[in-house]
Amino acid sequence: MLQITLHDVADFRLSDVPEPAAPPAGWVQVRVRRVGICGTDLHAYAGRQPFFRYPRVLGHELAVTVHAIATDVTTVAVGDDVAVRPYLECGTCRACRSGRTNCCERLTVLGVHIDGGMCTYINLPATHLHHAHGVSLEGLALVEMLSIGFHAVRRANPRSDDRIVVVGLGPIGLGVCLAARARGLAVIAVDPSANRRAFATAQHLVGLAIDPGSDVLAAVRAACGDTLPDVVLDATGHPAAMEASFTLPINSGTLVYVGLVQGDLRFADPEFHRRELTLLASRNATAEDFDAVIAALPSIDIAAWVTHRTTPTTIATDMPHWRNPAYGVIKGMLDFDDRATW
Ligand SMILES: [Zn+2]
Ligand SMILES: [Zn+2]
Repeated sequence: MLQITLHDVADFRLSDVPEPAAPPAGWVQVRVRRVGICGTDLHAYAGRQPFFRYPRVLGHELAVTVHAIATDVTTVAVGDDVAVRPYLECGTCRACRSGRTNCCERLTVLGVHIDGGMCTYINLPATHLHHAHGVSLEGLALVEMLSIGFHAVRRANPRSDDRIVVVGLGPIGLGVCLAARARGLAVIAVDPSANRRAFATAQHLVGLAIDPGSDVLAAVRAACGDTLPDVVLDATGHPAAMEASFTLPINSGTLVYVGLVQGDLRFADPEFHRRELTLLASRNATAEDFDAVIAALPSIDIAAWVTHRTTPTTIATDMPHWRNPAYGVIKGMLDFDDRATW
C-alpha cells in the first residue's frame, strides 16, 4: 500500500509498505480517502513543531471508508464513510474516567505522537469512528478541526445573552465562531487578515469582524458598544495576542485559550483578581464535540472552507506554499484517492 512519510524536515517520501494485519477485537481497518492538512502538519514539515520526532506519517484530520471489521464490531459496517477521532486515550487515568478523554495523561494523537493517516489502510478502534450521513468526504475530513472550536465553546459554557469575542480567525478560530453560531450566539471576531475577516463574514460565522489595529482593547470595546465581552476565546497561538486577550473580558468574564504557545504567558494579577476572571485552557475534543460538529455540518458551505487541494504526488511541492499567507489557505486537503501518477 501507499504511504507518505515525512522523513525529515521538508522531506516527504512515498513508499510501498505492507498492509496492516487484520484488525483485532474492537478494531476496524479503514481505507483513507481525504486528509485535512493543519497547522500542526505545516509546522512539522517546516521543522517548527517542538519535540516532534521524525520520521513520522502525518495525518489526523481523516475521512475514511470502513474496509474490514473485527467480528465483535457492530457500530460500523464495511463500506461506511466515517470521520475519525484521532485522540487515542488510555481510558483508565482520572481524566479519562471523568469523561475528559481529550486531556488523557497518556494521550497519543495519530499523526503527531504515532503514525497517522497518510497511508492507504490503517487500523483504528471502532469507538473512534463517527458517522455523518449525507456528508461528503471533504466534510468528514473537516470534523476534527471544527471539533476543537466546539470543545472550546463548551468549556466556556456561555449564557444565551453573553457577548462573545473570538480572537484569531485561522481554521480553529473559524471553528470557534461556528460553534458559537450553532448555539445562537452573536460573535465579534478580531483578526488582522482582511482575507480571513471577509471569509468569516461571507460565511455568516460572525456578526462583525474587526481589524484590531494597534490597540486591541480599544477596538474590542468600540465593537461591543463601549463595553467589554463576557467571553473571549483566543485561537491565535501567538504570545503577544494571548497576553493582550487577557485584558479583554468584562469583570466576571471568561477567557479561553484555545491556541497554545510553547513558552510562558504573563498577566497582571491585580487585573485578574479585580475582574475575578475565569481562565480556561481548551485542548483537543471529545466524542460529544464530534457529534455536535456533525449536527452543525449541514449548515456550512464545505466547498468554501476547502480552498486548496493536493494529491500524494503533489503534496511535497504544495506544502511549502500553504504556509504562505498570500496563498489564502483556509483548509488544504490531500485527496488520497488521487494517485494516478504514483
Ligand atoms: Zn489538526
Ligand atoms: Zn487516560
